[in-house]
Amino acid sequence: MSFGISWQKRGKTTRPFVAPPSSAPRVRVGSTVDSRVPDGDPETAWARRKDQYRLVSPLNRSKFTVVVVGTGLAGAGACATLGELGYNVEAVTYHDAPRRAHSVAAQGGINAARARKVDGDSLGRFVKDTVKGGDFRGREAEAFRLGEESVRVIDHMNAIGAPFAREYGGTLATRSFGGVQVSRTYYTRGQSGQQLQIAAAQALLRQVDRGRVTLHTRTEMLDLIVKDGEARGVVVRDLVTGKVRAIPAHAVILATGGYGSVYYYSTLALNSNATAAWRAHMRGAWMSHPSFVQFHPTALPVNSPWQSKTILMSESLRNDGRIWVPKVAGDSRAPGEIPESERDYYLERKYPAFGNLAPRDISSRAATEQINLGKGVGPLKNSVYLDFSDAISKVGAKTIGERYGNLFTMYQHATGEDPYTVPMRIAPGAHFTMGGLWTDYDLMSNIPGLFVGGEAGWSYHGANRLGANSLLSACVDGWFTLPFSVPSYLAPHLGEALIDEDDPAVLATVRDVTTRVSRLLEVGGDVSPGAFHRELGEILYRGCGVERSEASLTEARREVIELRERFWREVSVPGSGENVNQTLEKAGRVADFLDLAELMIVDALDRRESAGAHFRSEYQVDGEAKRDDRNWAFASAWQSARDSSGRLSFIRHCEPLTFTAVPLATRSYA
Ligand SMILES: Cc1cc2nc3c(=O)[nH]c(=O)nc-3n(C[C@H](O)[C@H](O)[C@H](O)COP(=O)(O)OP(=O)(O)OC[C@H]3O[C@@H](n4cnc5c(N)ncnc54)[C@H](O)[C@@H]3O)c2cc1C
Repeated sequence: MSFGISWQKRGKTTRPFVAPPSSAPRVRVGSTVDSRVPDGDPETAWARRKDQYRLVSPLNRSKFTVVVVGTGLAGAGACATLGELGYNVEAVTYHDAPRRAHSVAAQGGINAARARKVDGDSLGRFVKDTVKGGDFRGREAEAFRLGEESVRVIDHMNAIGAPFAREYGGTLATRSFGGVQVSRTYYTRGQSGQQLQIAAAQALLRQVDRGRVTLHTRTEMLDLIVKDGEARGVVVRDLVTGKVRAIPAHAVILATGGYGSVYYYSTLALNSNATAAWRAHMRGAWMSHPSFVQFHPTALPVNSPWQSKTILMSESLRNDGRIWVPKVAGDSRAPGEIPESERDYYLERKYPAFGNLAPRDISSRAATEQINLGKGVGPLKNSVYLDFSDAISKVGAKTIGERYGNLFTMYQHATGEDPYTVPMRIAPGAHFTMGGLWTDYDLMSNIPGLFVGGEAGWSYHGANRLGANSLLSACVDGWFTLPFSVPSYLAPHLGEALIDEDDPAVLATVRDVTTRVSRLLEVGGDVSPGAFHRELGEILYRGCGVERSEASLTEARREVIELRERFWREVSVPGSGENVNQTLEKAGRVADFLDLAELMIVDALDRRESAGAHFRSEYQVDGEAKRDDRNWAFASAWQSARDSSGRLSFIRHCEPLTFTAVPLATRSYA
């Protein structure tokens, strides 16, 4: 199917975009989508766009209300900035305090192209690393915005209280993360997210104190209000009283984090979920690349079926830790008994230029390959070693403790093993979602007035996010993009009243939410929502995990549909909807995961190429991902619909991706 459009590449017209047909059942191909990236040089696009944005005068800002769902780095930044500018902000979080948002868990650091070290870094290098790291499936122009604003982000977060690590002389210290050969990661030991989140949450609370932000804690957004095609507020449930009500607004920002927890075992907090994004999706907001999920190579392995959680060991550990497995499959000697000559430092062997700092998708796949060859270590033979003995003998245990002490303590608490004397055991675990709600260059979804920031969005990281680029994208969105683009959307709406609480669109949305809550309470089965979640995770790891194939995906889709049907027959939600009921909360989130999982599988099935973390076993060269730029150099933007029998069907819209500053090339880290 040809849509007859073409785009410019260094002044030359390339071939018209042709959307490939889908081989996935119940998928239709839809329209070609405009990213609204300013024409011309991507390097100057952001500066030009900022000059074009409409403004709202300071006197008029208090006439607008913006709902921000989420108080993580992206949401807290947007609340604090819009509040400071003078808008009325309604901040919603299901947590009991803004600073508990999951950004607090981030350990390793935040990137910035400040190029303060004489190691060859620059904005161009940052963009190249980010675009290449994402295997050319993200937006090049937005990688420029990320790099350009990264400089301001570090200065800003430093100014509002984030205590970045410093060199002896007082300058901010940096270290390296995967997929780069420079040192551009700013950090606070292994607590970078926590310190950034505390600073951001304090800035938000300052606006609460000034009366510009109204904070709704323990409040869960369960639906989006759309009237005449525009977002006009959200419907929330008070998690303490169970009361369902609408919060009307002139614009809505979703900064609700990622959905890696759909895999059950993930590095995310147990209550991270996809409900806000999925409910907005079912109101018409497209979702991009839902199957692009990052499996972090340094998660803790699952050691027994009773384990309820896996956790992350920061990638920063790969600055000093060396990854290896025994050369011989089935070798069950203790690590200290395996001599150097019988160890395979497989990342250093396969990717000598980057070694243990190869990007996450590649490192996870390489670990999976070793485990599948029978060389895995640990009781379930499902992990690899991360060994600090060389680093300790070079710089001493004290220095290693200064760099990673809290991570070592965390590891010891979780496993009972001392990483100063025994190598850590690590394994790939679901971590970060590159996919999310589709947004244009201004971070606005296809529903006017609905904006998306942070991990809930999709655009920067393509098919694989580089380490330490996500705290950055959340900050860039919250502090330095949404505060420009949201006012530009609001400006022509001056004088418009908030949607009335008796408006049919509001009443219908509130009714849909209460009906769904009642439906969950009425199933009356005997299986906990958590048991369904665990089963869903097993299906996804097996069928749509580090490696996927047409056969595994087809089977996984069948299993997910069957599991969803069982859920609605057998789930048990005791208690009522009128007070605190965490099983009810969980059931709602698992129900949404069950729907989202099908879309993830469909996305992976549809995309007949490998790219970054989306590794289809049918499409590979020498064990590496084989992209098909001729057919698949576009972002999928999915629309879903449910028929009366509960069955989902899908339309895939396509946003062509163009690369001019970093021309399309095969990724190589060798
Ligand atoms: C263990 C771990 C370590 C990491 N380390 C790093 C690192 O070192 N560097 C890096 O760059 N990235 C790292 N990341 C990734 C990074 O932390 C996240 O991508 C980023 O912090 C996400 O920020 P956010 O603002 O988008 O969302 P979050 O911080 O997840 O915030 C989501 C917010 O949305 C709210 N919310 C969600 N749904 C609803 C709803 N329905 N109703 C009401 N409120 C809702 C939550 O309450 C919360 O306030 C790490 C991730 C993990 C899991």
